Amino acid sequence: MPTCPICTAAFQIDPSDLDFYSKIQVPSPTLCPSCRAFRRLSFRNEKSLYKRTCDLCSKNLISIYPPDSKYKVYCHACWFGDKWDGLEFGQNFDFNRPFFEQFSALEKSVPHIFLFQDQSLENCEYTNYGLFNKNCYMAFSCGYCEDIYYGGTMAKAKSCTDCFKCIGTELCYECVDCLNCYNLNFCQDCIDSYDSYFLFDCMNCKNCFCCSGVRSGEYMMFNEKLGKEEYKEKLQKILRELTPEKITEYAKQLEEMSLKLPRKHMRGSKNENVTGDYNDNCGNLKDCFDCINNEKSAYTDSSHQSFDLCDCSYNIMCSLCYEVNGGANYNNCKFIYYGRNLQDCEYCQYCFSGKHLFGCVGLRNKEYCIFNKQYAEKEYFEMRAKIIEYATKTKEYGEFFPASSSPFPFDESVASYFFPRISV
Ligand SMILES: [Zn+2]
Ligand SMILES: [Zn+2]
Repeated sequence: MPTCPICTAAFQIDPSDLDFYSKIQVPSPTLCPSCRAFRRLSFRNEKSLYKRTCDLCSKNLISIYPPDSKYKVYCHACWFGDKWDGLEFGQNFDFNRPFFEQFSALEKSVPHIFLFQDQSLENCEYTNYGLFNKNCYMAFSCGYCEDIYYGGTMAKAKSCTDCFKCIGTELCYECVDCLNCYNLNFCQDCIDSYDSYFLFDCMNCKNCFCCSGVRSGEYMMFNEKLGKEEYKEKLQKILRELTPEKITEYAKQLEEMSLKLPRKHMRGSKNENVTGDYNDNCGNLKDCFDCINNEKSAYTDSSHQSFDLCDCSYNIMCSLCYEVNGGANYNNCKFIYYGRNLQDCEYCQYCFSGKHLFGCVGLRNKEYCIFNKQYAEKEYFEMRAKIIEYATKTKEYGEFFPASSSPFPFDESVASYFFPRISV
């Protein structure tokens, strides 16, 4: 069993993992799954924001990069505009210098986008990591959402405020991990429920107040069934007298009730052959978290409608990908940090609509490029093979970008939420 050089834990590489590495043509990983996730997530700054200006048009911005950042930072219009082209930063690969050192130099020279915003957003200026959202504000890592305020990791949600990790919800407030719910307030881990307050682990409930572990309940308060009129009368009184202190009190009562009840070994529904937590409608997942409609994946989190992923985070509609963080519509991609619509790409950051890109940063609509330099098709494959051979010898090929090369300090990265005790 290999030992992780970072945390010193022994970790298993299963035959199914080896099959995947062989299919995607990468060496076996050297770090354990947790340290791999830590490294990948240390690149993701979701909500540490700063006031600064665009380095091209001087427009005032809210950005993930502070004003004294060493990066050139462009607003959305400038970054996606035609006043610059990523190929201007093209470099020849130097077979006497480490691969990651050269990649880091390229990455520092190319302008960065002020927030991770693609071109699918409508009226979502103050959002980061979004896809097909409309009219959202301070929403982070949301996809296919409308009218979301102060939300995180939401999908297909509408008119929700202060909610986190909810999917298919509407008109909800202060909810966490709810699925297909309507008009819920202060609820957690609920499925197919509506018009209720302070629920925990409830399914198919309506008109309930402060209940835990209830299935198909109606007109219930503190897990007790009431008559319809009695419930309505009591609820009206509670809502009339609701204060922040009372909210804290009900939340505490709910927690106390929930602690007396048994809990399911893992959260999620409609799964087959799945290990992990908070997965829904998935099949054949190993150690995956927060995945929806995924098939055949391992060590992957927050990915939707994808299959054949290993070590991926925050992806949608991706297939055959390894060590990818933040993407939509990728096929056969490895070691990618943020981008859209990529095919057969490796070691890329912030690339949009690309095919056969290797070691590229900030390219749009390009094919056969290496370190932002254009090659002819045949030359591309020859050069790529040479670099892979070289970077395999230097033990760099097969590793995600080193955490130390992240543009963001550890405390601002998502890695700090999931791995608060690991220091870098
Ligand atoms: Zn480790
Ligand atoms: Zn600008």
